[in-house]
This record gives sequence, structure tokens and C-alpha cells, in this order.
Amino acid sequence: MTRIFSGVKPTGHLTLGNYIGAVRKWVEEDQHRADALFGIVDLHALTVEHDPARVRRLSRQAATLLLAAGLDPERCVLFVQSHVDEHARLSYLLECTATDGEMRRMIQYKEKAARERGGSVRLSLLTYPVLMAADILAYETDEVPVGDDQAQHVELTRDLAVRFNQRYGHTFTVPKATHPVVGARVMNLQDPTSKMGKSDDSGPGIVYLLDEPDVVRRKVMRAVTDSGQDVVFDREGRPGLANLLEVLAACTGAADPAELAGDYASYGALKRDVADAVVELLRPLRERHAELVADPAYVDGVLRAGAERARGMARPVVDRAYRAVGL
Ligand code: ADP
Repeated sequence: MTRIFSGVKPTGHLTLGNYIGAVRKWVEEDQHRADALFGIVDLHALTVEHDPARVRRLSRQAATLLLAAGLDPERCVLFVQSHVDEHARLSYLLECTATDGEMRRMIQYKEKAARERGGSVRLSLLTYPVLMAADILAYETDEVPVGDDQAQHVELTRDLAVRFNQRYGHTFTVPKATHPVVGARVMNLQDPTSKMGKSDDSGPGIVYLLDEPDVVRRKVMRAVTDSGQDVVFDREGRPGLANLLEVLAACTGAADPAELAGDYASYGALKRDVADAVVELLRPLRERHAELVADPAYVDGVLRAGAERARGMARPVVDRAYRAVGL
């Protein structure tokens, strides 16, 4: 059976981008068709300035939201990365496989390091893709369903797996990334040239999964578009509008966002429909989340059992890798 691994970083509240670009596919497709593991990858939250209590709270919230979104612990393994030592153990071996130049070429590193503006950049921000490779390779993963912002990191993971296998003998399965057809990259509503990322502190452009309906509406109605009149789909020339059409398509299940453009005579009408569609998309998730928050012992139990199963899967693979390099 196909093995799948994917994860979410507890660096902020989960967004509509996380849901449309990744989580929804985990719930609707991946956990049913494959042997799937989903990690709250909390070690990755330490790559930037962090508040310990907040990271713990956000990990818990992410786990609760993933369950609320429909991940079923009977069908998949849901766990917290730091509960499974194998990730850090394998990461070191992969640091000894990757090169400094390779790491510095990563687009996300360049972007995030530039944003630190002269402040100190943690070394782990540079090596973050190596830890991500360890997350994936420790489970003999075949497929990594992610938004396309992560494509370069999965490509690196493949390179490291191939290199390690060539040098030390076959040890790792070489994985590949898969992306949703529509909505693989949801853009920030206030800056449609950058993605809707939960770690950015630009609240008005980001729809969070737990936003109240009136907050969602306000954010969508204030989304930045150009000053034109006609609704057309043009990702390059009219990125704000294209993003709204993509979100609408992703919410309603339409295959082609360009086709939706013809249904609208004004930006206002489009925004109203987008707002309604997003509110409806998130409604069941928010309701289920409220129920789960009232039952913390259930969430604890899921995470404990998940870590146990994940450990059992990762340990033989990581032990094999240690033996392969001569340790
Ligand atoms: P973030 O960038 O929000 O911190 P994570 O790194 O935790 O997100 O990613 C969780 C998943 O959500 C990944 O599969 C990632 O590709 C996807 N994802 C994140 N942001 C977006 C976005 N704006 N559009 C589509 N997918 C996204």
C-alpha cells in the first residue's frame, strides 16, 4: 500500500491555505487510499523566535483542528513530531549527506532569512529542509501531499535519498510530492503575490480556520484587487482576482477557476460568493472543533497512540540508516 507522510508546523493558527492546499486532501482522499501519517511538526516551529507556551498551545490546537477537519485516527496516524525521537536522529545523518550550498539555495530559506532583517538567523532555519527530509524518509514514504510551496523541499528530499542510497546501499524509499489540482497555493488577500502563510503576522490578508463568519466576510470583502471592472482569470496580470476565483473553485469543487469568471459582472458579487463559500466550507470544522476542545482526554489519547505507532514504523528504518553509515 502507498505510504503517505505530510505535516503541519505549529507556528501559527491554521489558515484557509493550509486547508485548501493540504489538509482537505488528507481528509477526503489520502487517509482512505493509503497508509497515511500526519505530523504536527513542532521541531520545525523552533527555527524562528518562539514562545514555548505558544508552541505547545498551537500544537494542541493543530491536532484538534486536524481531527475536526476529519482525520480519522482509525484510518491514519496522527502524532506530534517531537514525541518520536527518530526524526532528530535521522536528521543528523542527512545533514551529513546534504551540502551547505544546497541548503542556501532553498527559496524559503532565502525569503525567511531576508525577513529577519539583520537579526540573527537560527542555524536550524537553514537546515530545516533536512529535518523535513528526515520526517519523510523515516517512514519509507512514497508520496508527500503538500501545497506547491513545499515542492522544492520534497525535491531536495529525493536528492538526499538517492545520494544516500548510492553511497551506502539501498536504505530509503525515494518519495514524490503530490499537489491538489486547484488551490495548491492560496495567496494572501492583502498581498496576492505572496502565499497565505500562517506564520506571517499580516492578519487581515489571512483567513484562519477558526475565524468567526463575520471576520471571514470582512477579510474577503476587503481583499485587494486591481481597479478594473471585468472579472477575468489572469494569474499574472490580475493576481488578486485570480486568487479569489481559485478559492471559490476550491470551495465549490469547480474544476476550472477561469470558467467561473464569466458568472460575475462585478468584483463585489464575486467577493460575496467567495465569502459565503468560505464560511460554509469552514462551518462544520468550527463546530466539530468546539466539541473536541471539550474533550481533551480524547485528543491526548489519539496523540499518544499515534506517537507509539509512528515510533514503531520509524525505528527500524533509522536503525538501518545508522548501520549503513558505519555506526
Ligand atoms: P505555513 O506555510 O502556513 O506555515 P506549513 O508549512 O505548516 O504551512 O504547511 C502545512 C501544509 O499547508 C503544507 O502542505 C503546505 O504546502 C500547505 N500550505 C501552506 N500554506 C499554503 C497556501 N497558502 N496555499 C496552499 N497550501 C499551503
